[in-house]
Amino acid sequence: MTFDIITIFPNFFESPLREGVLGRAIKKGLINVRIINLRDFTTDRHRTTDDRPYGGGPGMVMIPGPLKEAITHAKKDDKDATVILLSPRGEVFDHEISRELSKKEHFILICGRYEGVDERIVKAFVDMELSIGDFVLSGGEPAALVIIDAISRLVPGVLGKEESAKEDSFATGLLEYPHYTRPREFMGMAVPDVLLSGDHKKIEGWRRKEALKITFERRPDLLKRVELSEEDKAFLEELKRKNR
Ligand code: SAH
Repeated sequence: MTFDIITIFPNFFESPLREGVLGRAIKKGLINVRIINLRDFTTDRHRTTDDRPYGGGPGMVMIPGPLKEAITHAKKDDKDATVILLSPRGEVFDHEISRELSKKEHFILICGRYEGVDERIVKAFVDMELSIGDFVLSGGEPAALVIIDAISRLVPGVLGKEESAKEDSFATGLLEYPHYTRPREFMGMAVPDVLLSGDHKKIEGWRRKEALKITFERRPDLLKRVELSEEDKAFLEELKRKNR
């Protein structure tokens, strides 16, 4: 899987792409990230990438010329690459979108700066606009990292055990159950007995209930979309009764 990142701050990505799960996936060649410095596609002596907005108002806008050249460059061996603009106006990124996108092979991510990019770039080149939440960042770079990280986790081989992504929050449609590790007792709090029982069926049942409970408490909206067994439904009814 290849990610081309178009940015005016190429150094931004140096250490995040070297560390942890993503760093390892890149080293193994499972994920290929190419940083494209937008300034390499400017044509003037000052390597200009922005200008004042038509119609007035505060801030600057990224000019379309260099962006067009950078996108064309990234697309030259692969016309089908998916062009994504990071933008607070985009569709809000979530696990479902991440899963859909993980089926694709090649992405070109455009990191906006200032007030954003000239709208004609969106019209001519952008396949989708993605937001990472209802807040405003000063640039698309952190958002690009978030999206690359989330999609890469779903690529086979990127996580040590493939199992771990399947159990993650949202993957099951629910938030994940709580985790415990050593020591058995910490600050007067013991690990729940069931986890020490060695009874895998019982542990699985407990984890399912804990996941249902935490989702019911924190994100009841998620329960509408998840597939529930009769046992799950009975447990949720019980929770609702207790909450009345
Ligand atoms: N004037 C714009 C905000 C520009 S912020 C507006 O009000 O919509 C500068 C750049 O940061 C944007 O072009 C975009 O690339 C990035 N950005 C800001 N917030 C973001 C978010 N929530 N998700 C993804 N990208 C974001």
